[in-house]
Amino acid sequence: MILEKILLHLLIILIPVHIYTLFFENRKIGKSPYLFGVINGITAIVTMSFSFNAFGMVWDLRYAPLVIAFLYEGPISGSIVMIIIALKRTITGGDGLIVAYLCLMFTVILPLYMHKNYWNISKTNRIRKALIVGIWTALAQVIITYGYFLINGYPNHTNKELFLFVVLYGVVQIIGTAASSTLHERMIEKQLLQKEMSKAEKLHTIGELAASIAHEIRNPLTVVKGFLQLMKKQEKGTNLQYLTLVLSELDRAEVIISDYLNFAKPRLEKVEKIKLGDFISGIITLIQSLAVAKGVILDDKVDENPPIITDKDQLKQAIVNFIKNAIEATPQGGTVSVNLKRINNFVYIVISDTGKGMTNEQLSRMGTIFYTTKEKGTGLGTAVSIRIIETMNGKVTYESELNVGTKVTIQLPIVEDENGL
Ligand code: ADP
Ligand code: MG
Repeated sequence: MILEKILLHLLIILIPVHIYTLFFENRKIGKSPYLFGVINGITAIVTMSFSFNAFGMVWDLRYAPLVIAFLYEGPISGSIVMIIIALKRTITGGDGLIVAYLCLMFTVILPLYMHKNYWNISKTNRIRKALIVGIWTALAQVIITYGYFLINGYPNHTNKELFLFVVLYGVVQIIGTAASSTLHERMIEKQLLQKEMSKAEKLHTIGELAASIAHEIRNPLTVVKGFLQLMKKQEKGTNLQYLTLVLSELDRAEVIISDYLNFAKPRLEKVEKIKLGDFISGIITLIQSLAVAKGVILDDKVDENPPIITDKDQLKQAIVNFIKNAIEATPQGGTVSVNLKRINNFVYIVISDTGKGMTNEQLSRMGTIFYTTKEKGTGLGTAVSIRIIETMNGKVTYESELNVGTKVTIQLPIVEDENGL
């Protein structure tokens, strides 16, 4: 039965993936092209050993492991499979040897070419490419086989029968290659996921550790600060200015620690209903002096006054951070404007500045803890603020253009029931 044979071959060419998942789970697939080549080479030998004779030719799915090796591991791996196939085929001998060599050579051209950008494209596109290579392999064989028959005369069968067989064989070849590629992708995805998970776990532990250390440091810091304040009160001499400096640096350390702790575990403690318009106006009044000191115009357009339920201290910290960053990024004479918009059940606080803006690379790092471009920066402000907004079920998006400005949009949900206000 031809169908049985075909199914058997399909199963055989899927073996390498299983071997990889079974034995090499902890390794990235790209670790050893030699190993990958040998495993696929062995698979090719197995499918060739179970090959079947039809129309005076030997048929099997040897090209599937070949193209997969070329696509996923490149020339070294592919060449190993190619040499193994060529050797095995030479030992078998027979009439179709020239056809077999020709098929082999033609088949590898496309996967060899396609391997170059293979890892720069998405998973779906990789499977698509594998499918194309599968079609190419099938076509190459059909054309070469038919060419051979044309030259040497058709075998003892009707044309239609031969044609149907070749088409069926081609389709199986395509399915086999695509299935093999899909399984490989699944395996790679699983491995990546596992890696990500263990990385996340590690980071989580480190984060917890850092948070507890930060917490422990805060207590002695408070005691030191208290005594220094006492000393400062009694000090009249030259030490006074040193004490002032030491105290201001201690303040800074305290801010960093509490920011970090807030990042590690943002807590919404006193949740209450507030009117966002009034709240923002209040913040702007508060921060106006900073803008004036920097020569930046702080503009606001707050017409709406939607109600939201939140911890106002935390929200204040977040918004102040965003506005402060905007002011710090803006040169003298520039403008920072704060707008409040309401769309459906959401409110949008938009902070835009005419500052130095950011490159795409910088933009992609926004929200990364300890990322700063400022000499005295902490790289905590944005990370903490984004975390706070996210704990409030909100979202922060950045848009920025270098030397033009930055726009930060904070989306927050409005409370459904407004009657209480
Ligand atoms: P810090 O202000 O201490 O540097 P932040 O987390 O608040 O830390 O900000 C991180 C970095 O993001 C800043 O150093 C700055 O480079 C960039 N940044 C944040 N907001 C803006 C903005 N509005 N315009 C340009 N750059 C910004
Ligand atoms: Mg900042």
